[in-house]
This record gives sequence, C-alpha cells and structure tokens, in this order.
Amino acid sequence: MPEPELSVPADLRALLTRPTGDVLLLGHAHPDGDQLGSLLGLGLALGAAGWPVTLAGPDPVPEPLRFLPGSALFQQWRTPSGRFDLVIVCDCPDPRRTGGLLEGARGPTTRVVNIDHHPDNSRYGTVNWIDVSASAAGEMVYGLILVLGLKITPQVATNLFTAIHTDTGSFRYANASAKAFRIAAELVVRGADPAHIATQLYETRRPESLALLGRLLQQIQISADGLVAWLALPAGSAPEAFLQAEDLVSYARSVGSAKVGLVLREVEQRRVKVSLRGKGEVPVNAIAARFGGGGHANAAGCTVEGSLDEVTARVLGAIAEALGRPAR
Ligand code: AMP
Ligand code: MN
Ligand code: MN
Repeated sequence: MPEPELSVPADLRALLTRPTGDVLLLGHAHPDGDQLGSLLGLGLALGAAGWPVTLAGPDPVPEPLRFLPGSALFQQWRTPSGRFDLVIVCDCPDPRRTGGLLEGARGPTTRVVNIDHHPDNSRYGTVNWIDVSASAAGEMVYGLILVLGLKITPQVATNLFTAIHTDTGSFRYANASAKAFRIAAELVVRGADPAHIATQLYETRRPESLALLGRLLQQIQISADGLVAWLALPAGSAPEAFLQAEDLVSYARSVGSAKVGLVLREVEQRRVKVSLRGKGEVPVNAIAARFGGGGHANAAGCTVEGSLDEVTARVLGAIAEALGRPAR
C-alpha cells in the first residue's frame, strides 16, 4: 500500500510550500471530530511553522470536542472578518454548509484548498484533493503534514487521531482500513493518547444524561421484518448539547437484524434532520440524496421539510424501496 503522503497532489504541495498571506482554516455547520481534528491539526502544524492562521466556522466547538488541543483558537463567525489569501476547508463536501462564510472570505485572488473524503464533494476549490479511500479527512491531513515537512507534535497527533477515531466509529466501521490503523499507530508514537481521547469522547456523561439516554433508547422502533431501526425525536426531546454528545443513531444501527439505522430529529417546525447509517447492504447516501442530502455509503444525512410523521413515513418508504421490500 502506498504511503499516505504519496497521494498528496503536486499542486497542493506547491501551494503550501511557503506562507503566502493570511490563511483561514474554515469549518462547516455542526462540526464533528473529523472536521475539527483535521482543521486544528493542520492549523497547529502550520501555525508552529510561522503561518498566520485563523480558525473559524459558523458553529462553536461542541462540548465533547473542547478537549482538542487548539480548540480555544476556533472562532464562531456569523460573517467573515474579511477576505483571506488562502482558505483551507476539510471534510466539507458542499460549500453551502459553511453558512456563507466561504463566499464571504473568498475574494477574486483567494486560493481555496478543498481536502475531503466524501464521494459527493462538489469540487468547489482552486485545488481539490478528494480521496474517497481515506477513512477520515484527518488521514489525508496526516499525509499532507508529512509532505510539507511540518512537525507532528503531541497536540497535532491528538487532533488527527481523534479525527480518525470518530469517523471510523472507534475503529469499528468498514472504513477502519489497514492504512487507518497504521496512521493511528504512528500518531500514538507521536504522542496521541488513545485512552485519554476515548475517555474525553465517551466517558464524561452527567448522570442525568444517562437517564435521558435510557428513556430515548426505549423509543427506538424496529420494522416488522427487523431490517430497519429508527428513532423519531419531536422538537424539545433532548437538549442540543446532549444530542451533540450522544451518537444516538449508532444505537439504532446496533440492532443485529437492522440493515439501516436512522434518527429523525425535528429541528424546527416542519424541518427534520435525518441521520442514516448502513452496514454495507444498501448505500444510505443514495437514500439521503433523494432528499437533497448526501454523505458516505454507510453514514449519510439530509434535512427534509415536513412534519416529523410525514418525513418519517417518506424516508422509511425510500429505505424500504432501497431494500427491495414493500413499505411498512
Ligand atoms: P450525520 O448523520 O449528521 O452525522 O452525518 C453523516 C454524514 O452525512 C456526514 O458525512 C455528513 O457530511 C453527511 N450529511 C449529513 N447531513 C447532510 C446534509 N444535510 N447534506 C449533505 N450531507 C449530509
Ligand atoms: Mn464529518
Ligand atoms: Mn469525515
């Protein structure tokens, strides 16, 4: 298997050889462990080499990810603070998800670097590096940092390890490749502490959160044939911070007979956010795409207009069709 840094495109290497003006590392709405780990890891490495970097996105760092080194540098913006010479975006297939920040930060001479592993990336950058074989954008950033000759400090390693750890579901999903394990091992050598990271991610629950989790898990429904497990959450079912911290959809997916697990969450009146997870039987990104969303074959999402009941019926109907069985 080729070394990860060998896949870094030459034009990207050339662009990042030496600092040229102000650099923005830009996130998208609801940033996750891969996105923040990639941006912070690259931002810290570039910053230590003297690059003038700014880290920002439309949403703040969620509570469970505030342990990431450098997360205090990440700013929440409504509008960009100005134009940048270089904007680097990681793990973001669609620029609309930056909430207008990319358009605002992008002037006529701005170079935009788009580093991603989503198959549906719209290639909106000046340089687009899309590697769908990467388990996480953090894996790609690891190769980039090596190619650029930058230092992987324990702080950088912690960010990149968290990126790979979260996108592979703690090394449980089909994307937990030999390459992902090899890079993760190298990051441990360079100072990432897997036990500390897992504790920060999964073992900081408050007692009342555990009780709420128990109540919500009882509401998971399973189709008569057992192939689909879902949780429909009316608005106000749980605090936002709880939903960010708990990977509820993984419990739906954990049902043995289920080929698809999903959570449908009413985020406002007549607007439902759907998270879909598969097990390799049906590509859930194709189902999400039917509702204007996207993602990976086994992890995808969409936001759908309609009441919670309507959206649940429509999405379950599409899943039934994809599974080649009659709707429930
Ligand atoms: P989530 O279920 O929100 O954790 O998202 C799982 C995957 O689906 C991620 O790769 C997201 O990038 C993608 N995804 C989630 N929501 C959307 C959306 N509204 N449009 C496109 N992709 C999405
Ligand atoms: Mn992501
Ligand atoms: Mn990712």
